Amino acid sequence: MTPEVPRQKDLPITAKTLLEVNQEDEAQINLRLWQEAKERKQGELTLVILCSDARLNSIWIMGGNILVASVSNIAANGETEPFKYLIRHKGVGRVVVVGHYDGKKLEENGVIAGCGGVDARQQITNEDQPPADELTAFISRIQPDSLKQTVAIVKQVSRLAGDKPVYGIAVDHLTLMAAPIAQSIVNERKERAIIYPQIIDNEGELGQIPALEEGSLTTEFLEIIEKNTQLTTARLMADPGFAERQKVQNPRAVVLSTSPIPIGLRYPPLFGCPNTAFVVRLPIEKLTEIASSPRVKIRAKDLKQAITQLYYPIKHAIYANEGQSFFDTKTLIIETSSLEESKRIAQQLIADPLIQEWIKQRGGKIIVTEVKSGKTEKAEDFDVSGRF
Ligand SMILES: [Zn+2]
Repeated sequence: MTPEVPRQKDLPITAKTLLEVNQEDEAQINLRLWQEAKERKQGELTLVILCSDARLNSIWIMGGNILVASVSNIAANGETEPFKYLIRHKGVGRVVVVGHYDGKKLEENGVIAGCGGVDARQQITNEDQPPADELTAFISRIQPDSLKQTVAIVKQVSRLAGDKPVYGIAVDHLTLMAAPIAQSIVNERKERAIIYPQIIDNEGELGQIPALEEGSLTTEFLEIIEKNTQLTTARLMADPGFAERQKVQNPRAVVLSTSPIPIGLRYPPLFGCPNTAFVVRLPIEKLTEIASSPRVKIRAKDLKQAITQLYYPIKHAIYANEGQSFFDTKTLIIETSSLEESKRIAQQLIADPLIQEWIKQRGGKIIVTEVKSGKTEKAEDFDVSGRF
């Protein structure tokens, strides 16, 4: 599969196009291959835990491998616990935690920066003060450094991963080139060992990414890095303007989703390319099987944490001028396994003054959908007029 899907700027994002694009061959083939891999339960899927930043595309980072499940939150932060069913699923063989930075800033100023969540965390200097709002509270729990953050999440996931390997990589979001920075594996004595360059624990700027030596990596980790390098190098040759387009995060859509199947696989022409969707993953709780069908439930605290993160792109979108982050962000998509549930969330969102401001100032619109096993069964443009 080649991930070089041209970005269809003119294809509008509506309930109708979401339904149509999801029905097209490319999406259907992706979904079939993905579901088959999941059902074989042989660890063929790689769970990628990454930042919601639209410039990070899990499939591209994984060198075009489509057998990827993804969990995205701001700075890859948030509770890992609600995703443990996914981490432990037999179809998932390994976890890759992605941190990111701006390669140009590193080259020119020697600083590892560029993840909006981590950068915002660095701005919080007075830690004794209670956070001003929910978003600030969420950000205050992020590590003040992208590499430390990645190592922290690798450690957190390792506690839930059984004997599965957990890897940490640092990705330059301008090129999507990845460097290995942490490896957590279980040895023959059934003990888990985590390796990462100890310099990451130090304070102060490192001036470069301290990658793990190739000789210390497992074969599969080395393969992940090699596939990433191959695809990244080929793309930069074929598309020299790529890094320039990755400078500013400016997706057309913000997505709140319960689906672990990357959005680019489900709607290739709309979201197959980087910088097209800022996705926040909403965890679902699997209830014990009632009757014959497995039931799922969204916990109130998980919903609250996910909605809090939506404020980040929406706030930026309200005040953005042309050329700034989130200037073109005008659509919010809510995906759950029930249209009614998605509508309830939309209803809750439009009661929020910030969302109202975005709708009024920027012509923001909301689409609610019902997605089951990656298939978009229902989609509706949510009528926001006259609701507030
Ligand atoms: Zn980020």
